[in-house]
Amino acid sequence: MKSIVTDLLNESDVLLLGLLNNPLFGVYLIQREHFIFVNQRFADMLGYTQDELCTSKGPLDVAMPADQPIVQREIDRRLRGEISSSSYVFRAVRKNGYMFEIEVYGFVTQFAGQPAIIGILHDISERKNAERKVLDQLHFIEKLVETIPNPVFYKDEQGRYLGCNAAFEHYIGYDRHYLTGRTVYDISPKDLADIYFAADKTLLEHPGTQNYEASVTYADGSRHNVVFYKATFNKSDGNLGGLVGVILDISERKQMEETIWHDANYDALTGLPNRRLLQDRLNEELKRAHRNNHQLAVLFIDLDRFKEINDTLGHNEGDKLLIQAAQRIRTVLRISDTVARQGGDEFIVILPDISDTAMSELVAKRIISSLTMPYDLNGQQAHISASIGIACYPDDSSEMETLIRYADQAMYAAKSLGRSRFCLFASAMQAQTLRRLEISSALRQAILENQFEMYYQPILDIPTGHILKAEALIRWNHPHLGVIGPIEFIPIAEEIGLIGEINNWVFEQVISAISLWQAQQPQPIEEDATDHNALQISINISAKQFMTDTDSYWLDHLKQMGVSTQSLILEVPEDLLLDDRPDVIQRLLLFREGGVSLSIDNFGSSYSAMSYLKKFDVDYLKIDRSFISELAENPRDLTIIEAIISMAHKLGIQVMAQGVETAPQHDLLRQIECDYVQGFLFAKPMRLLDFLHFVVTPHA
Ligand code: C2E
Ligand code: MG
Repeated sequence: MKSIVTDLLNESDVLLLGLLNNPLFGVYLIQREHFIFVNQRFADMLGYTQDELCTSKGPLDVAMPADQPIVQREIDRRLRGEISSSSYVFRAVRKNGYMFEIEVYGFVTQFAGQPAIIGILHDISERKNAERKVLDQLHFIEKLVETIPNPVFYKDEQGRYLGCNAAFEHYIGYDRHYLTGRTVYDISPKDLADIYFAADKTLLEHPGTQNYEASVTYADGSRHNVVFYKATFNKSDGNLGGLVGVILDISERKQMEETIWHDANYDALTGLPNRRLLQDRLNEELKRAHRNNHQLAVLFIDLDRFKEINDTLGHNEGDKLLIQAAQRIRTVLRISDTVARQGGDEFIVILPDISDTAMSELVAKRIISSLTMPYDLNGQQAHISASIGIACYPDDSSEMETLIRYADQAMYAAKSLGRSRFCLFASAMQAQTLRRLEISSALRQAILENQFEMYYQPILDIPTGHILKAEALIRWNHPHLGVIGPIEFIPIAEEIGLIGEINNWVFEQVISAISLWQAQQPQPIEEDATDHNALQISINISAKQFMTDTDSYWLDHLKQMGVSTQSLILEVPEDLLLDDRPDVIQRLLLFREGGVSLSIDNFGSSYSAMSYLKKFDVDYLKIDRSFISELAENPRDLTIIEAIISMAHKLGIQVMAQGVETAPQHDLLRQIECDYVQGFLFAKPMRLLDFLHFVVTPHA
């Protein structure tokens, strides 16, 4: 050790010179406030030569004016002996005026027997600039994090909070000072804290990023759906520092998703599942029924005459009725059953677990009776009924769509059996449906190819024995399907919208027939005079058909053909006369006032409310065949007909009896003063020429 010191002393001059000329640090010696030595590095830093500095400059000359007091104070303190050494920073000015920052380490010494300060300094501008940059960035990041509207938090590698932004403080209701050092268990309910803690643990064990959906409880106690986006960060030494997380509130999005899902799956009017959800449910239920070996029933419900409610009371009232109907169906069902709105006035019910078909029949009965109760629509009472078709898994089908289709077909069958009833699907019904489809498509062709023919069934005037009336009855002779009766194809034509065309065709045929008859008569028939020899032909009108725009065309056509309106009788069903729609009433009146006679067809077969007899001046009642067929055997039928005839006569209405097949029926009808008879006893429906011949042939 001693020898090293000795060596150092011996070499001190060399060492000192080496240190003084150190190119990395500036070295200076000050005495009496002037530089008496500066090394080359110092001179370079300030842009002077060593001589320039050592001849006339002192430390204050190279300090920025604002920092000169700092420099002065530090020199004074050392020279006064308050401190022997000091380090400080000040801003120096280069000879060319540029400013830079210097860090000084100086201490008091003696030189040439006088106090002096020797020091080293170095340019710290770069370091300071870098520090400032980091600080700027830090401020920027702090501001950024603070401004983010989402809650942001950071935790150490143990999962303890290090800090957070204002949004996070707001969300948990604690400030960041309280939060620091605490864990999720200190600020969140246990069930949620468990989830957060487990997620943090996983992320810290496998550094990187993580996001997941969870709930959070806000300071006000409300729970929200959120997504956590988290990432780990490392410290400058490369070790794990902790994690940072952002919380994104997705409650609104979730709610919107739920709303969208709800809108896509539920009917807006009734709130019931719609067709799409029904299909999902039925699919699920079918799978379950298959697994559990259960039976399942699909009920297809269609409201009867709902269109009339819509047309007469308006769509708002129609909507109200649908809502009430939906509620009624719901209340009849069990929780596990599904009822969906299929569209319009159609509903579908799934009975997921039935022991036998009788159970589904019972439910169908209950639905029908609940739907037929009166509806209160803004103080007005409305009545409807419903027809239901039932198809069962596995008996009828195991396919979802087939089951629905079969239930639909069974519903149609229920309708055609007279509505307000249910029908179980039977495979025969499928054949019926196919037949209906076949007829629908053949009907269009039939119109184009004129496959129809008009038949006329004579009507006998009982008191006079004359035959001057007939009922026009359409026949359809299909080239392959053979003769198809009107009972079968007229309802289909109504359904597919062809009834108007068919009816116009019937009308034109009948008018031609009358004008042919007129042409054969010796005397032309006067327009407004009642001619007892005039032929009168009745045309069957259905309610649907009557809605098509026939009135003006028919009346004009009659005029054009020079045919008296009195040659025509409209045979209308009772329900048409019960229709309250102003346009229906107006049309009927238009015909009536135009001189066309009105006859009520199949009187007594359905409504027989008879209130329409007050509204309309009808000319004829045509008693339903069902009363005539047992007339001779059933005294009650005779009494009813007698009463009808007597009432009709008092109202100035004449009575026709149709379906008269036997002489006793005819005799009885004559005795009770029925006015007209029609039936196979006298004549079957026949072609026009046969009919015209029949009319002129004398009958006993
Ligand atoms: P409807 O108006 O009740 O017509 C009487 C039906 O009874 C006719 O059947 C006729 O052939 C049949 N009939 C007549 N006398 C007797 C009898 O003594 N015994 C039996 N068993 N039946 C008798 P059709 O021609 O098959 O017509 C059936 C229904 O089709 C008609 O019932 C009517 O509602 C409808 N229809 C027929 N032609 C037309 C038409 O041109 N337009 C419209 N809309 N419907 C029509
Ligand atoms: Mg008729």
